[in-house]
Amino acid sequence: MIPLAEARAYVLSRVEPLPPRRVPVGAVSGLVAAEDVASTEAIPPFANTAVDGFAVHASDTRGASPDRPVRLTVTGTVAAGDAADRPVAAGEAMRIMTGAPIPPGADAVVMVEDTEVVASASGGEEVLAGVEVGPGQSVRPAGDDVNPGQVVIPAGTVLGPGHVGLLHSLGRQEVIVHPRPRIGVLSTGSELVGGPAPLGPGQIRDSNRPALVTMIAEAGAVPVDLGLVVDDEQAIADALRLGVAGCDAICTSGGVSMGDYDYVKAVLDGMGEMRWMQVAIKPAKPLAFGVVTAEDGRGVPVFGLPGNPVSSMVSFEVFARPALRRMMGYPDDGLDRMTVRAVLDEPLRRHRDGKTHFARVTVRYGDDARFHARSAGGQGSHQLTGMAGANGLAVLDVGAATEEGDELPVMVIGEVTGPKAVDTA
Ligand code: AMP
Ligand code: MG
Repeated sequence: MIPLAEARAYVLSRVEPLPPRRVPVGAVSGLVAAEDVASTEAIPPFANTAVDGFAVHASDTRGASPDRPVRLTVTGTVAAGDAADRPVAAGEAMRIMTGAPIPPGADAVVMVEDTEVVASASGGEEVLAGVEVGPGQSVRPAGDDVNPGQVVIPAGTVLGPGHVGLLHSLGRQEVIVHPRPRIGVLSTGSELVGGPAPLGPGQIRDSNRPALVTMIAEAGAVPVDLGLVVDDEQAIADALRLGVAGCDAICTSGGVSMGDYDYVKAVLDGMGEMRWMQVAIKPAKPLAFGVVTAEDGRGVPVFGLPGNPVSSMVSFEVFARPALRRMMGYPDDGLDRMTVRAVLDEPLRRHRDGKTHFARVTVRYGDDARFHARSAGGQGSHQLTGMAGANGLAVLDVGAATEEGDELPVMVIGEVTGPKAVDTA
């Protein structure tokens, strides 16, 4: 058996980021920028008001208070999207709505809440401003957020909804990113049935393929369903060749153990430089990994994941997912799930077998500002109910303390609930 760290390092040393490509801005959330994005425009493009109110000369409001407001002549209105048709002179005020350009002459805005509009002797309007404002008050200057030429998104940034908004505010239609890899998923096993058909003797349903497809999509890559093949070398070889031609990486499940019909390894050996590993972890000890060269010269990483349903998912978590993230250009500290230290709310039993165990747990952030973990169910590698209920994998190293109250590292693989930051009741 080889240590987990060694197997992982081997895998990661053989995958690299996909060549960058232009992608429409609407589709880049979760992808990594492969260019420095610089602005050609100022944001905001013009000085505008942060509040609804009256654009004034700040100096006109000197000494104003609710008891002794200053009186200014209202000369018009500027709405968002408008431009003032005349400047604001001393002694004047112009009604202005949030986002509207500050009229020439004005240098501050009095909030509508601090004003009262009255009729003037001449039949027009006057505003009583009950507060003193300084120059620049409630004014958002041009370029307050972004100046032309400024790099707003450095290469290597993991893009999210805020970046999508920012790119749109710059008028960008596309951005150069590492694209989403297409990941083929192939199930192998003569016992497998896809779909709801009645099961014959010895048959079980294929659960690995849909589970892996879901994990791939959740990791931000594009799953490609390569179907289901029986334990037959020719069938496996044909399916893999098709997959290599159309995908950036492939995950197979089953057929990498010590059984008589475990042909995946044999087939992959004939296709590229494969390494067959027995990793010191439980579940998911067997792993075949290598890079197959496609006809067009691309290196296509192939993960031969174990067949047991929980094993295939755990193996995906610890080997394939970090590799996919590297293909997506994620920085080293973005490859892995976050690991937290959690208090065990119940003992977690393990055998002394020299392996690192990944126990399926539910983890919650408690009112005591600590993470808490308990078993999510059956811990057998065939027991998907435990995996289904788990949002964490507790890492039980050899000799790890596993009594109630002990603290353990837990890989967070799903959403964690906890107390709310603000009382929303
Ligand atoms: P294998 O690695 O092919 O020896 O498979 C190990 C165990 O996982 C066996 O009990 C298989 O029946 C089961 N298995 C393999 N592939 C799948 C699959 N796609 N869905 C559900 N169970 C599977
Ligand atoms: Mg099998």
